[in-house]
Amino acid sequence: MVKFKISVNHNLCIGCGACEQNCDNFKLTDGKSSPVNSEVDEIGCNQEASDGCPVSAISVEEI
Ligand code: SF4
Repeated sequence: MVKFKISVNHNLCIGCGACEQNCDNFKLTDGKSSPVNSEVDEIGCNQEASDGCPVSAISVEEI
């Protein structure tokens, strides 16, 4: 099964919280977002979170 690696570039993240609202796989800590699970079997809402990030800090890649 294809898996996906989810990551957030903390140098870009401005802590807007959009990803946390769009997807329960993101959590803000000290103003920066991180994935709860960094490897997932299904993209699901991670894609919407990535698409909705205003500074394109979220990457979703097949592994
Ligand atoms: S949407 Fe982007 S900028 Fe906003 S908290 Fe999430 S990763 Fe950070």
